[in-house]
Amino acid sequence: MDLGIKGKRALVCASSRGLGYGCAKALAEAGVDVVMNARRPDVLAEAAKTLRDLTGAEITEVAADITTDEGRAEVLAQAGDIDILVNNAGGPPPGLWSDWDREDFIKALDANMLTPIALIKALVPGMIDRGWGRVVNITSQSVKAPIPQLGLSNAARTGLTGYVAGTSRQVAGKGVNINNLLPGIHDTDRAEALDGPVAKSKGISLDEARAARAATIPAGRYGTAEEFGAMCAFLCSQHAGFIVGQNILLDGGATNATI
Ligand code: NAD
Repeated sequence: MDLGIKGKRALVCASSRGLGYGCAKALAEAGVDVVMNARRPDVLAEAAKTLRDLTGAEITEVAADITTDEGRAEVLAQAGDIDILVNNAGGPPPGLWSDWDREDFIKALDANMLTPIALIKALVPGMIDRGWGRVVNITSQSVKAPIPQLGLSNAARTGLTGYVAGTSRQVAGKGVNINNLLPGIHDTDRAEALDGPVAKSKGISLDEARAARAATIPAGRYGTAEEFGAMCAFLCSQHAGFIVGQNILLDGGATNATI
């Protein structure tokens, strides 16, 4: 299917690895020029080279922490006019509901709620002026069904979801579509970072912890960054103009709900 976005320009935050990389790859394959961002210049440069070699797309790299004011300013300065924004950043650490203090919450809110909101505020006005834009926020299945040990994520991402629900309906008439993608368990560094402590606490291997978690997913496996990227690219396509403020779950059926 031709996604109809060849020649558009996208900013994909936190995209040297994992789900962000999957989105950057799918967009580059659709002929989109991609601004990639991550904190480590060496890892980012390697990912950008891989995508350039693979797709021939114009790839710009900006190494910066997207969750800081300075990092965002640098990314925005180099990004220029952006038609497609994919918001992403690392997720908050796991813990118990009683573990976290104010600073932990502020950090989580900064990374997973206020950063995407700041980038929406910075880039959507230009999209409105040009009469076309797409925003996809990578959130989490924890928005639909809370994950007990990820209280910081549950809280911050639900806040973003509320903001998007109201904002997306205010800009839809201007040709700008904002939606959220909710990953369940995907095979990335983040999944390994969460499986590691489980393996340790249960005295089992990482592979055993992973197999046990995969068995809880009706699809019987973890999702891939490629599958995730393909859905992201579709939401950024010309065909997605009637999809507004939706929360699309990619979890292999793990969330047991009718709707
Ligand atoms: P990951 O750890 O595999 O990759 C994260 C990417 O983000 C890397 O490229 C890293 O360099 C970059 N990054 C992290 N923090 C950054 C920052 N402050 N500034 C710039 N770049 C930064 O993570 P992932 O699995 O791809 O997950 C992406 C998001 O989706 C995370 O917020 C995660 O919590 C969430 N999520 C993931 C899963 C999963 O199973 N993988 C499930 C639910 C939610």
